[in-house]
Amino acid sequence: MASRLWHVYLTLGIALTVVYYLLPSETADLVVWPIIGWSSVIAVVVGVAVNRPDQRLAWYLLAAGVAMQVIGDNLYSIRTFVQDSEVELASYIDLPYLAMYPLVISGIVLLIRRRTSGRDRSSVIDATIITASLGLLSWVLIIVPNVTNADLGALEKLISIAYPIGDIALLATAARLAVGGGRRTIAFWLLTASVIPMVGADALYGYLSFSGIYPEHSFIEAGWIAFYVGWGAAALHPSMRALSAATPNSARISTGRLVVLGGAVLVPPAMLFTEDALGEVSNATAISIVGTVLLVLVLIRIARVARDAADQKSEARFRALIDKASDAVVVIDGKGRIRYHTPSTERMLGRCTSDLEGVKFSELLGQADGLRVLAMLSSDAVSATLEWRVQHADGRWYDLEVIADDMRGKTDLDGIVFTMRDITERKRLDLELRRQTLQDSLTGLPNRTLFIDRVEQALKRAERRDGSVVVMVLDLDEFKIVNESLGHAAGNALLVAVAARLKAAARAGDTVARLGGDEFGFLLENGDVDGGSELAAIRIQSALHAPFLVRGKEVPVNACIGIAVGSPWSHTPDDVLRDAALAMSFAKGKGKNRFELFLPAMYEDATRRLEIAADLLGGIARGEFFLHYQPIVDVRNGHISGGEALVRWQHPRFGLLAPNDFVPVAEMTGLIGPLDRWVLNEACRQTSAWKSADVADDSFYVSVNLSAQHLQDSNVADDISKVLEASGLAPEMLVLEVTETALIKDLDSALASLAIVKQLGVKVAVDDFGTGYSSLTHLIKFPVHFIKVDKSFIDLVNSPDGEMMVRAVVDLAHGLGLKAIAEGVEHPEQARALEDLGCYLAQGFLFAKPLPPDEMAVLLASQHVGSEAPWGQPSGLMLQPG
Ligand code: C2E
Ligand code: CA
Ligand code: CA
Repeated sequence: MASRLWHVYLTLGIALTVVYYLLPSETADLVVWPIIGWSSVIAVVVGVAVNRPDQRLAWYLLAAGVAMQVIGDNLYSIRTFVQDSEVELASYIDLPYLAMYPLVISGIVLLIRRRTSGRDRSSVIDATIITASLGLLSWVLIIVPNVTNADLGALEKLISIAYPIGDIALLATAARLAVGGGRRTIAFWLLTASVIPMVGADALYGYLSFSGIYPEHSFIEAGWIAFYVGWGAAALHPSMRALSAATPNSARISTGRLVVLGGAVLVPPAMLFTEDALGEVSNATAISIVGTVLLVLVLIRIARVARDAADQKSEARFRALIDKASDAVVVIDGKGRIRYHTPSTERMLGRCTSDLEGVKFSELLGQADGLRVLAMLSSDAVSATLEWRVQHADGRWYDLEVIADDMRGKTDLDGIVFTMRDITERKRLDLELRRQTLQDSLTGLPNRTLFIDRVEQALKRAERRDGSVVVMVLDLDEFKIVNESLGHAAGNALLVAVAARLKAAARAGDTVARLGGDEFGFLLENGDVDGGSELAAIRIQSALHAPFLVRGKEVPVNACIGIAVGSPWSHTPDDVLRDAALAMSFAKGKGKNRFELFLPAMYEDATRRLEIAADLLGGIARGEFFLHYQPIVDVRNGHISGGEALVRWQHPRFGLLAPNDFVPVAEMTGLIGPLDRWVLNEACRQTSAWKSADVADDSFYVSVNLSAQHLQDSNVADDISKVLEASGLAPEMLVLEVTETALIKDLDSALASLAIVKQLGVKVAVDDFGTGYSSLTHLIKFPVHFIKVDKSFIDLVNSPDGEMMVRAVVDLAHGLGLKAIAEGVEHPEQARALEDLGCYLAQGFLFAKPLPPDEMAVLLASQHVGSEAPWGQPSGLMLQPG
């Protein structure tokens, strides 16, 4: 209904116009005219009530202006028709008429103010051009004739020029409204266009009545009717609300505007031409002044158009740049609301324009970042680079690098400008890179690089508090066996589990790292107090005590630990780590599950080992090596059933060396092969010689130790057969001692080698039995004849528990058809206990120490020595042959 109202009113207006012209002048002016006039005032007031524009005052001013005009009309009609008198050239009726101008003009000015944001100089210039040319017209045609009219009094002259001046002012403001920015709606056109017939009618009226030929009830009245009806309809039209809506200035210059401006500029020359044609140029001064003013204005206008065009081009380029840019820009106002954002902001935050425009920016951010934005608003001159975490509409979190620029009160931006860049991927890569370079990928512990870095930091801190740092290196015992017997994946799983336990065992502030393989590092910052580091080592070792469950199997894990104390004045991180690693290898050399504190002497030892390794091959060539033989006897009668060959080295500088001094070094340096071959060769040669000399009988055997590494060697069987051939020894007289760990290390190649050995007729003994991981049943696979029960079991054979263990081993060995040999028997009670258990073969200091070949020969020659069962006597006596 409301939207139809203007239609109804317009139709009514046209109908009234028709009625006005049909009726005789008097009735028309007294009855119809007021209806038309007052209906316009009412329409404007109703329009305001119905359409509720922002700028009501403007419309009320317009309504008041129209009302003044209508009052003037009413008074004029009454004067003319009711009082039947001529209206004077200056009367009270002019008061409401003239009052119309300021009211209407100020109404329009208010609307213009609302419509234009900021200054719109171009529109002002355009409006001035139009006004100046129309002003010239009215000056020449109305004002000058009135002012120069000698019949008129001063007041009459004044009033007669007040109208054209008012009209020009009204035209100027209307022109300004017409050419300025803002939406051009129906209401806009009705309002601006209706001013033209009204001013036109005023001008004609003024001109014609001055000439005394004004025709009452003529087409001229239609100009005023158009004004009344036009404005009434404008106010009733719903689009009247948009009249006061602000819109950005458009620098565009339309064809219509060009025509109007061109026409306006042509007014002075046209006027000059007309006056000249009519015979006398009487207004040359006014025309040339206005012409000059118009020329200057047009020049200014052209300059502005050129500049705007350039601006527009650069703005278009800028816009394209912003639209394509991946960085997002958001401008917030003083209240924190988003005033402007680039299209990339929508992509970055996953929100559409309506989610952003006018929304409080802080509400789109996480709590902390949001608060920071609020803090910025309440402080002044903030400009900072920040990192934000922002949740995208799809739920994912993004890292943004944000540059905040406080532009409040500066430039047109007038707000805080946030330039945001998505750095999620960059941060992820950074983190990944850091993780890869500093973290062990299997266990997640710090790696060696990071560990060394931490040690360095700790040393720096220690320097400040005049202290020291403790570094421990931990290496798992026999991890290689687990890896090779259970598989690589199981080995990895075990390492992960070990890492977790070590981490749990460390105190807060200590660093646990994986240095590589099965080697771990500990950094204790305050572990240097008395015995603190040893206690820590014990704590860590006991953390590994409970067996690990890997692939459903219980795996016992032990570790050796080396401890080094680093002083900030004499140690680099590498020094401390190297000391700890050396101490660890010393612990390893001493056995399993041990720890050693680093001592400078360890370096001398380490250097000595290096020299030993270097001298080994030369030593063999120079004949510095020799063999001792330890008898293996029958505990029942002392009969020597065989002898174990044990190697010795008479080193030119270090003196007599035991196997423990050089066998591990030889194994580490890969020199064990040549050494083992020499021992094998020498033992077989010696035994063969004893046999030839009848010192040893056919049942005697020589037992030779074979290192794990040599067993893996594919040539081992070849070596043995060559040696047997060279020495002429019967294969049954040779026994090879292999430790169980050597067998398990590489099951397949061990089995292959031993199969050939068996074919040769050579026997095999499992050495140090009970110290490895394998069970007896495990050994059924191997063609084995002897089991050498380790000294650690024999040491316990006189205790109930120990006896039970040895009995179990011996019974199992017998069950498998193997012979058991007890190692390291030192006391007669042990020998008696072994006899009771049915373990008849034994070796040990009780019977004889390892003997030089000549002493061994003497013993063998007098087999009767043991027959008198002298086990109760001191072992030293055993060495005295015959
Ligand atoms: P093993 O094979 O267990 O050798 C027995 C070791 O126990 C010998 O030490 C021997 O002197 C010692 N022993 C014998 N009876 C007793 C006793 O009643 N009490 C004590 N406390 N010890 C006793 P040795 O000669 O120092 O040899 C140490 C290890 O070196 C050997 O242990 C063996 O594994 C290795 N080894 C010795 N000779 C060779 C060799 O020619 N080649 C290889 N690859 N390894 C060898
Ligand atoms: Ca042995
Ligand atoms: Ca042994």
